[in-house]
Amino acid sequence: MGFSCGIVGLPNAGKSTIFNALTLAGSAVASYPFCTIDPKEGKVPVPDQRLSTLAEILKPPTVTPTSLTFVDIAGLVKNAHQGEGLGNRFLANIREMDAVVHVVRLFPDSNVSHVSENVDPVNDFDVVATELMLADLETVTRRKEKTEKLARVGDKEARKSLDLLHRLEASLGQGIPAHKVPARNKGERQTIHDLFLLTSKPSMAVINVGEDQPPEEDPRVAAFRAHVSDLSIPVVPISGKLEMELAELPEEDRREFMAEMGLEGLALERIVKAGYQLLDLVTFYTIVGAEMRAWTVPAGTPAPQAAGRIHTDMEKGFIKAEVVPYYRFVDAGSESIAKNRAFVRTEGKDYTIADGDIVTFLFKA
Ligand code: GDP
Repeated sequence: MGFSCGIVGLPNAGKSTIFNALTLAGSAVASYPFCTIDPKEGKVPVPDQRLSTLAEILKPPTVTPTSLTFVDIAGLVKNAHQGEGLGNRFLANIREMDAVVHVVRLFPDSNVSHVSENVDPVNDFDVVATELMLADLETVTRRKEKTEKLARVGDKEARKSLDLLHRLEASLGQGIPAHKVPARNKGERQTIHDLFLLTSKPSMAVINVGEDQPPEEDPRVAAFRAHVSDLSIPVVPISGKLEMELAELPEEDRREFMAEMGLEGLALERIVKAGYQLLDLVTFYTIVGAEMRAWTVPAGTPAPQAAGRIHTDMEKGFIKAEVVPYYRFVDAGSESIAKNRAFVRTEGKDYTIADGDIVTFLFKA
């Protein structure tokens, strides 16, 4: 399913509204057959100016952007870690995600009830974050108890991981998420990875503001930013309702409406971009026959693995990659000119894909 972001938050925070606006806007801004895999899971194209520029130069019949998958994860309530509400199923769903998007409510609307009767984004964020930490604390404590038994009977690996487990347990117990507990060596990194902790995932927050509130002037938005700043959580203020209405308009009306309101782009594009940055992804491009396509890999991916994103045979039979950086290509204006000017580099299996590479993979079939 590609890279996935799970949308979490208290009931009535606006998760479904934002999910629907994201998937609708996705199909509206890119003329791309995005698909909603099921009502709770949608692929959203990543806005990409470079891809549009390449498409203008090359005019390929098909242009396929890269995408992120968003999943609307059903309501969480206080004590979910003890199985309240959808409890454990909810937490299991988050475990499968690459990143977490917290939606918190700021919009005032007396017709929409709030679980704690009070619109307070800082408190709402803390309720959800605490549930995730308590769930992790249970996971870590269980693992620690098992590991202590193994260490007592002389298991060396177990002894090595105990120190990390104690650090994690102490931090989570004090309300510090797992991503703030650094691994001290390769073994510890592996242990953290194997624990699949919810609070070790990259996360961002979407603050759902009212449609009449200019978010940057609202002191509660500033207070929320300050509250999460220690956690390295990017904050994107949007109005879910307004974005939903915009996404539903035909394109021409939408443009007109946005121009009238002085909006430069759909705020949802910022969510997708922020998610992309959060996951530390890079984009490379391929042009094969009629199709030009953007692909996503984590920063630092070697060329054969990047080829494997396209097809496993391409990774197995990888010979070399011919690479032109995007800006060189655009300067040259076409692939044949780029080739004539010897901008095309030949790279081997140790090459790390760079953001903006235009790549042709050569492989043994
Ligand atoms: P969820 O429970 O978090 O999925 O919340 P929903 O997306 O179902 O939203 C709950 C209610 O709040 C619905 O009636 C929405 O129409 C409303 N709502 C969501 N976002 C906004 C918003 O930005 N402004 C206003 N006024 N209402 C909103």
